[in-house]
Amino acid sequence: MGVSSMKQAGNYQERSTKEWSFSEILTNREIRERWEKVRNYFFLRESTYDMTNRCNIRCQGCYYYEGEKQFVREIKDPNMWRKLMQAEKARGITYVVLAGAEPSLVPELCEVCFEEMPLGTIASNGLKPIPESINYKIHISVWGNDETSLKIRNAKDMLLRQIENYRRDPRAVFVYTFTKENIDQVYEVAETLARQGCKLTFNAFSAPVGYAGPLRHTPASLGQTRKAMVDLLSRYPENVLFSLYSAVAHTHRCGLHSLYACSYPRMNPSIHLGLGRSFRQYRADLTWDRDAACCVPDTDCDDCRHYAAGSAVVTARLFRHASDNDTFMSWLDYVDTYLAVWVMEYSKGENLSHRLVPPPGHGVF
Ligand code: SF4
Ligand code: SF4
Repeated sequence: MGVSSMKQAGNYQERSTKEWSFSEILTNREIRERWEKVRNYFFLRESTYDMTNRCNIRCQGCYYYEGEKQFVREIKDPNMWRKLMQAEKARGITYVVLAGAEPSLVPELCEVCFEEMPLGTIASNGLKPIPESINYKIHISVWGNDETSLKIRNAKDMLLRQIENYRRDPRAVFVYTFTKENIDQVYEVAETLARQGCKLTFNAFSAPVGYAGPLRHTPASLGQTRKAMVDLLSRYPENVLFSLYSAVAHTHRCGLHSLYACSYPRMNPSIHLGLGRSFRQYRADLTWDRDAACCVPDTDCDDCRHYAAGSAVVTARLFRHASDNDTFMSWLDYVDTYLAVWVMEYSKGENLSHRLVPPPGHGVF
């Protein structure tokens, strides 16, 4: 599955001009405790890796099969991957996202990555179980009910097979990607997953460069998506890993770059700050290209609302959110959500904010 990203909460690219208000905000006990909880993870430094060019299905709108990265020569030698991971560790990377195409097709390479780098996530379509010894988070992509999956992913009984493979697996988070066409289906999918005790989070379809197909969102479909996210968050609080501010950030008419200024190298020319300094997106031949480096390469930046992108881009904007209690609580909920989705052993707390707070400098829609 071609997804990826992780955050760098510690890489603030902004200087606080509001330190007085930040310390005032921290006088609230609830806020202070959550802040102390999430800041323990500011050491995370992410990069992402395409483990293979191959996938066992072919989905419409897959950004992996856009652009040149799909044509590189795969490196299949575990020793070369081990050396890469050791070099990554040496340059300060502490967190890996193994993506694709489909990493479950190369478990021996994922295993080597885990041996060298114990924190990470694998983005998978969930059709082939990943060995338990690889103790990364596993994000399983869901694009609608099984009828829709058959139509746009050409895979039969997909949810059923994904649940069979990952029910009761503490590594697994099912990621429902809202497209323009599958919004209502989320209710039956969420009910099924909740009944099976599975964890679920949400993504918004972000069009690959040049994509003009039917999955692309419109303002109306973004509004409907937000409503469904909020409904399900209140209906299945034990299963849905999300927050109201996550819903706002990922369904806003402006994409993530317009709202927060994307910090990945592809959009961020600085080689000195944050993700611009440390993030790399390795292709399956172990090369990387700074000009193309982001967690969802070949995605159209104007349409980018991807959950993986947001978890870095929103998180990096700490000080922008440190203006008042409500806004900062929303940001904390966002960070608490992404840590629960991306980090093994991290447990999500109750959301602190109970209203839709607008991104700084913007309206709520
Ligand atoms: S599962 Fe679908 S979206 Fe993921 S890499 Fe394979 S074809 Fe692309
Ligand atoms: S697609 Fe564009 S906006 Fe989204 S993460 Fe990549 S560089 Fe940033």
